[in-house]
Amino acid sequence: MSIVTSDPSEGQVSGQSMYRDSMSFFEETADLLKLDERVRQELREPHHELLFHITLDIKDRMVRLTEGETIQVGDRFDDLPESHLNPEDYALLANGVVSYRPRLFARSQTSVRDGLIKLFGNNLYRIQLRKPEQFKCYRIQHNNIRGPYKGGIRYHHEVSLDLFKMLASEMTWKTAIGNVPLGGGKGGIRIDPRNYSTDELERISSRFMYKLKPFVGPNTDIPAPDVGTNASTMGHFYRQYTDGESQPHKLRGCVTGKDVRIWGSEGREQATGRGLFFCIEEWLRHQQSPSADKLIAPDNVSYQDVSFTLQGYGNVGSNLAKILVPHGAKLVAVDDRDGTIYNPNGIDPEDLSRHVNAPANVKKSVEGYPKAQKISKDEFWRVNAFMFVPAGLGGVINEDVASKLQVKLIAEGANGPCTREGERVLRERGIEIIPDIIANAGGVIVSYYEWVQNNNQEHWSEEIVNAMLCDAIKSNYNIILDIAAKRPRVTPQNSKMYTLDKPVHIRAAAMALALQRLNSHYVLEGFSH
Ligand code: NAD
Repeated sequence: MSIVTSDPSEGQVSGQSMYRDSMSFFEETADLLKLDERVRQELREPHHELLFHITLDIKDRMVRLTEGETIQVGDRFDDLPESHLNPEDYALLANGVVSYRPRLFARSQTSVRDGLIKLFGNNLYRIQLRKPEQFKCYRIQHNNIRGPYKGGIRYHHEVSLDLFKMLASEMTWKTAIGNVPLGGGKGGIRIDPRNYSTDELERISSRFMYKLKPFVGPNTDIPAPDVGTNASTMGHFYRQYTDGESQPHKLRGCVTGKDVRIWGSEGREQATGRGLFFCIEEWLRHQQSPSADKLIAPDNVSYQDVSFTLQGYGNVGSNLAKILVPHGAKLVAVDDRDGTIYNPNGIDPEDLSRHVNAPANVKKSVEGYPKAQKISKDEFWRVNAFMFVPAGLGGVINEDVASKLQVKLIAEGANGPCTREGERVLRERGIEIIPDIIANAGGVIVSYYEWVQNNNQEHWSEEIVNAMLCDAIKSNYNIILDIAAKRPRVTPQNSKMYTLDKPVHIRAAAMALALQRLNSHYVLEGFSH
């Protein structure tokens, strides 16, 4: 199934490889641990790289004329009456294009001449008939020594084989750090989902799973949501995967992150944000306690000085804000793909979510939020706050951004938000980091709970799920803190068997925990011949 590509956009021939970059950090930690060469080779390259295409008919659309085209048509359409479309039969997409159902013309007041129609005031749109479109799809299965491959499905227009290889390997480290019996995988489609209607996305997801089915399954490889996908996407994957099976109830664990009404887990939607919160709470607890052996109770942690800036107001960012702000923290600035806002007096996350998710907000952006001022990206990086939470895409904290940030702490909600150079600058400036492989592990940990519930035909309460997540995140984060500080302890976290002979920086400590857990499997189980 291994497929080699020479497409420069896959990052393999351009000389710039995110995967190679991230694996050089793997090699450094492996050196630190004196990891056996055979184990390194098992972990160095993904087990499988799957790359394929799907083709679908995309619905009829109305595309607004460009300025040049409008000048060309001149006054020929001045007398064309404006059309009024039945709201149930069309969707205005993020790129300004109108996607519509064929029945629209039978149910709306329309006037069309020479394929042009006048909409929303005096704007001319060209009717573009249904056409086939091809999408590039990926699934990387990095490693399954600890259990079935596990990782999200991303729908985004800037994805590549190289990126997915990096993200899949991070899942191998993350599942080991979360200490769940799963491996690492990642995949997705090169698409901007905001430019497709809901029913087009359903067909795209179903087609994707139709092609992926031979390679995934509850005991093989278990997809979950990531950027651009959600519980609804998982529902469509689930239906496509189980359709026609004689015992579909036994396959419920084929995807996680499903809606709770179709066997999703309570608490899964908020899990990544909640896990991130538990790490931040633990970080503050250590800061505010007299010593690592005399920690104050979580209830006594103070959030009074915790102002924070946030990039990304999707699943991870918005859920973190909704948990953190009621504890007393203050959200002062938010940046997303289409806008950046600032309010030094604090932004109410629930109110901001209502703005982002309003039906008229087609870009689902913080842009235009009336209770904050618009600022530039450059101003955003320079906002003075206690903490910055990247919860959008990877690679945003480069050398330049790292030198601008005016914060004490970075809690990595996104995967791989720091570049190597960015991290070097952060370290030089004494800015601390909660690394992604523990900070955003909450999602995969609760995905594991969902998988267990599905396999056993059970349904646990949110209280139980959150309590188990709290314990999983905090105990493993504390082991990482102990490794970083060279502080071997037998109880309560038992970090004794993982600490090294010298203190290391926090990301190396997290990686060291992952690699030691993975290494145990190769050492104790041996290699197959
Ligand atoms: P999402 O699609 O729900 O939201 C993504 C957010 O990022 C949106 O607000 C979007 O506007 C913003 N964004 C996208 N491109 C941007 C850009 N160039 N600049 C600024 N903002 C940009 O995605 P999500 O599920 O919240 O995931 C966010 C990050 O967290 C990703 O890196 C993902 O891999 C990681 N993550 C997610 C989960 C999960 O359970 N959802 C788990 C672990 C890690």
